[in-house]
Amino acid sequence: MKYISTRGNSPKVTFREAIFAGLASDGGLYVPEKFPACDYKQFPAGCSLIEVGARVFAAFADEPEFKGHFSEICGRAFNFPITLEPLDGSTWILDLFHGPTAAFKDVGARFLAECIALAGAGEPRTILVATSGDTGGAVAGAFFGKPGIEVVILFPKGMVSEFQEMQLTSWGGNVSAFRVRGTFDDCQRMVKEAFLDPQWKTKHLVSANSINIGRILPQSMYYAWASLDYLRRTGRKPGFIIPSGNLGNALAGLWAKRMGFPIGKIALACNANRAVVDFFETGQWHPQETKSTLANAMDVGSASNMERLRHLYPDMESLWKDALAFSVNDEEIRAALPEAQKRWNRVLCPHTATAAFVRNQLPGSDWIIVATAHAAKFRSVVEPLIDGLIVTPPALGLIEKRKVLCKEIDPALQNLAQALL
Ligand SMILES: *Cc1c(COP(=O)(O)O)cnc(C)c1O
Repeated sequence: MKYISTRGNSPKVTFREAIFAGLASDGGLYVPEKFPACDYKQFPAGCSLIEVGARVFAAFADEPEFKGHFSEICGRAFNFPITLEPLDGSTWILDLFHGPTAAFKDVGARFLAECIALAGAGEPRTILVATSGDTGGAVAGAFFGKPGIEVVILFPKGMVSEFQEMQLTSWGGNVSAFRVRGTFDDCQRMVKEAFLDPQWKTKHLVSANSINIGRILPQSMYYAWASLDYLRRTGRKPGFIIPSGNLGNALAGLWAKRMGFPIGKIALACNANRAVVDFFETGQWHPQETKSTLANAMDVGSASNMERLRHLYPDMESLWKDALAFSVNDEEIRAALPEAQKRWNRVLCPHTATAAFVRNQLPGSDWIIVATAHAAKFRSVVEPLIDGLIVTPPALGLIEKRKVLCKEIDPALQNLAQALL
């Protein structure tokens, strides 16, 4: 399997080359040259997520570094429960947040860390990551203490929750965090510039954002597994409702569908940042200024994976056949949280609440809500809206006790360069 750039002007590369390069040399994003057709009927009944991952990845990375290692990589990356349960007769929920930093980003970050440890040949590397809240913590957790690896995190000042900020800034060791006086889109732009700037070559940068194919492909595996499990348990194909910002998670779902897994439609639940929803309505892509919302990890005005989405669906008709998009505002998020508690006895995070809200807009049954984070990460938003208090999972409790280490910089790459030296 080879990987090509969405812009079509750089050479084809292997999986290993694609994960170390991050961005293609023409500024595009890597995508698989073609999607292997997975005959889902060939998967044994009750196949685990790790088995699904190992089988599917064998087709996506066939070079010697990885061959035969995917059971091990998936076993280490997916070492926490990912569960699929019914909420009622027509709606199910896929919980992706039982990992060490309590958001689905743990899946991709841990998978990427394992691949880099295996194929990095012990060379020093700097993992550079822009975060709207959850990615940075997951990446720091996945790479913390790994020999030869330095982690640099950029996050927008005042736009992450207090708890998320702690989770970004309290590592020390090989992790440095920078609070950027700007938006997430500024942070993302700085990362892209660093990758194209020859001055940064000596750092051997690796991107851990969802521009890195090594973060998105593993996310396809839980859609593959959940669709097989749902089909086995109900005899029907599910659709997924995915809280979306940078579109990595939604794209992973659409990729799983393209591979042939039994998936109906994919519904994107966006917050008040509605550039993607406008694109679905008009076919025109106009990135917008980022707005702050209650679902802050989805505060993205210029989704970088849009480029992959448009590459997958060169025309709107084919996109509309497979996917829908909705914008959910803060008031609707506030309404969805107590409603989910009453109706399903579930305390959701504000991101997952967008998907719960969208569920009510969608006809028919067989919808799976994708739950992207634990509500405890967003206590100050969620607790005032629900009955009772949120119990903090043990791993998160430890983070609250660490001390904060962080520098603040203006949103330009040279400020980061200075601060790092
Ligand atoms: C990152 C994040 C999202 C958005 O995912 P994308 O892949 O960027 O679309 C949704 N919910 C939570 C909790 C997140 O951390």
